[in-house]
Amino acid sequence: MLPSLFISHGSPRILLQDLPSRDFLESVAGTLPRPKAIVIATAHWLTRIPAVGTAAHPAMIYDFGGSERRLFEMQYPAPGAPALAGRVAHMLADAGLQVGIDPHRGFDHGVWVPLKLMYPAADIPVIPVAIQPHEGPAHHIAVGRALAGLRAEDVLVIGSGTFTHNLHRFYAETPATPQPPDVLAFSAWMEDALTRGDVAALDKYRALAPGAVENHPTDEHLLPIFVAFGAGGEGAQAKRIHDSADRGVVRMDAYTFG
Ligand code: ZN
Repeated sequence: MLPSLFISHGSPRILLQDLPSRDFLESVAGTLPRPKAIVIATAHWLTRIPAVGTAAHPAMIYDFGGSERRLFEMQYPAPGAPALAGRVAHMLADAGLQVGIDPHRGFDHGVWVPLKLMYPAADIPVIPVAIQPHEGPAHHIAVGRALAGLRAEDVLVIGSGTFTHNLHRFYAETPATPQPPDVLAFSAWMEDALTRGDVAALDKYRALAPGAVENHPTDEHLLPIFVAFGAGGEGAQAKRIHDSADRGVVRMDAYTFG
């Protein structure tokens, strides 16, 4: 059975740069059974209640800045999966969650940038799912739990965020910056809580984890990991399958749950 997966997408410039996290994303699909479809919770689609994209042919969303024209010309023409997306919405509703559907939602860069590296042929249907920035880990674990059954149908559930994400620090650093102590401490605390499956600690991570607020001034880029954690199912085994840092402060870690 497929595990669920958390990946760090970092900056869209990962597509133009030589980074360990890029090498990882290019190789990780080869370590997994080929999925029939991908359900991906993205840090770049923020809604009040859980939402599912049901478009048959999702459009590209270039929701980032910068002057690299090549990035704004890139395409990821994977199809959607309207019928499966409708079922995903029902699974969330059956779990007691409010849910919306969006027939016009396209692929934001939290979706298409990592998938372009993982599945460059763009021949696997992709269903985007939103996160709720005003809700905490417990809510996102519940969203993931509602989707855990998809793994038995060869559907890959992905949370796409970034493991540490303080962009003010990122822009102040150089490529050679070593990881500061709070980045290392936060990452170690998270790995420990995830591998112990400590839901109570994870839910209070902002109070308990060292450097939590410094590494996530807002936590929309961490919340997708809780969707992936939940989708691993009750008692899932968490495993860190990648760790690296961009400019020392943006950790690009990835995990499987299952
Ligand atoms: Zn992002």
